[in-house]
Amino acid sequence: MTALPEAIENHAAQGVLALRWPDGREARVTHARLRAVCPCSACRALRRNVGEVAVDATMRLADIEPVGAYGLNLTFSDGHRRGIYPFAMLAALD
Ligand SMILES: [Zn+2]
Repeated sequence: MTALPEAIENHAAQGVLALRWPDGREARVTHARLRAVCPCSACRALRRNVGEVAVDATMRLADIEPVGAYGLNLTFSDGHRRGIYPFAMLAALD
């Protein structure tokens, strides 16, 4: 059972998503990094074929939608919204 974040704070101007975990750790992940590691099947296939994908630092989160106790469905400023990010994955990103 993955711990759920106690707080999710989106710093839109800086392009940083901050997650506070029950152990007191605060993880700050840039929106560009989140886009680069998108776990959807299309992005995983792309990374398998061409390797790490460069994402511009101006990439921003456009929407954050909770998916039950499982994770977050993130929509990005490039219109991509297929990635459902499990909390277990987000916790390991710091
Ligand atoms: Zn994707």
